[in-house]
Amino acid sequence: MNGEFQALGGTDRSRVWFERAQESLAGGISSSSRLTSTGPHPYPLYMQSGSGTRIRDVDGNEYIDYLISYGSAVLGHASPLITQALTGVLSTGTMFGTCNVPEVELAEQIRQMVPCADLVRFANSGSEAVQGAVRAARGYTGRSRIVKFEGHYHGWSDTLAISNRPGESEAGPYDAPHSVPHSPGIPAGVVDDVVVCPWNDPAALRTVLDAHRGELAAVICEPIVANNACTMPGPGYLDLLREECTGRGIVLIFDEVCTGFRTGPAGAQGLFGVLPDLAVFSKALGGGLPIAAFAGRREVMEPLAEGRVKHGGTYNASPLCATAALVTLRALADPAVTKRIDEAGRRVMEAVRRAARDRGVPCTVQGVGAMFQVVFTPDGAPSRRYRDLVRADQARYDVFRHELLKRGVHSNAYGMACWFVSASVTEDELAATCAAVEGAFTAL
Ligand code: PMP
Repeated sequence: MNGEFQALGGTDRSRVWFERAQESLAGGISSSSRLTSTGPHPYPLYMQSGSGTRIRDVDGNEYIDYLISYGSAVLGHASPLITQALTGVLSTGTMFGTCNVPEVELAEQIRQMVPCADLVRFANSGSEAVQGAVRAARGYTGRSRIVKFEGHYHGWSDTLAISNRPGESEAGPYDAPHSVPHSPGIPAGVVDDVVVCPWNDPAALRTVLDAHRGELAAVICEPIVANNACTMPGPGYLDLLREECTGRGIVLIFDEVCTGFRTGPAGAQGLFGVLPDLAVFSKALGGGLPIAAFAGRREVMEPLAEGRVKHGGTYNASPLCATAALVTLRALADPAVTKRIDEAGRRVMEAVRRAARDRGVPCTVQGVGAMFQVVFTPDGAPSRRYRDLVRADQARYDVFRHELLKRGVHSNAYGMACWFVSASVTEDELAATCAAVEGAFTAL
């Protein structure tokens, strides 16, 4: 591939499909986050096919993909490994709604890879698995309130769709943020059960925990905050969470929907060496098929195992999705695979840093190789929490992202989200990406 090729030719067919979609799909979309998925375009791009790290839209434009199905297609699009495994399942039955062999093998594989996982339960999406983990924590402790961190995202369901992205006028004081529902339609009682805390601030955390002594079932966090432009945990901060939760009998939940099996075979808990009581997985777990899991310490999962705490789902761990996940995890269990993903991402991160430095553009490139984001903070300092990001130059990110798109590089349209790297990315694609980054900074 030529690094300077122009991918974004005409996108008329996408425009026409979007116009047509609005007649039948509410808003023309199937998920609220898709509306903005092409940045400055007034319509989303319609993708038609993918292979490895490449995707192609309905107008025939080809892109090197760093959205990579929000991190799910970790082995690449149409991975031959997965395609081959699923071909068999397609002819023997995709789901029976019964127990099946692949789900057992998959749970065993997760136990081998994830340090906190004594027992596992499957679901179909990250939101659902978060709900399962929260139910398990509430059932185990007999308490209902949950601490979540401002800006962290744990899915669209009522349970935790609070203060994902509060506006400055509604967010409240820095160290005692308001619980702001993410959408109309979330009942006040649900909002009341969620206590919001600023991230990476030990004193604020202790104040919140003290104020709700005896009321808290769980503290949940994204250990690397994928939904806050890959804000990293401060040194010792995850250890502090662990200590405080242990000392107070609160269940610590890591939402590893983005980090799981991506930042290393053992996810963020392996990377940072801090064990939560429960962890939630999706995205990379399924390699592009819809499957999720929550898993954790035997004692906390025991009420579920005994059937006192309920969790269900017609589609949970179908042979189709469990087989895709099994093949994916067997590949990711090889540390060489996640190491290669990390190194590939670091090359792109370095290219951005170099281009920014050469042109004197203040920006930070944060996260790890497997998932990272470019943030135009005023002083180029890394973000520590959500409110730092509110002050970043989002308009500049939009231009940067669009310039990349024109040069054949596709990434998340939303500056608070992040780039995901797949194991399928080739040397040529990395070189083309770095050239596109150079070009985009020149155009900025
Ligand atoms: N948790 C995190 C950290 C996520 O990033 C997401 C989705 N982006 C979810 C939960 C919800 O997952 P899903 O969209 O599969 O419901």
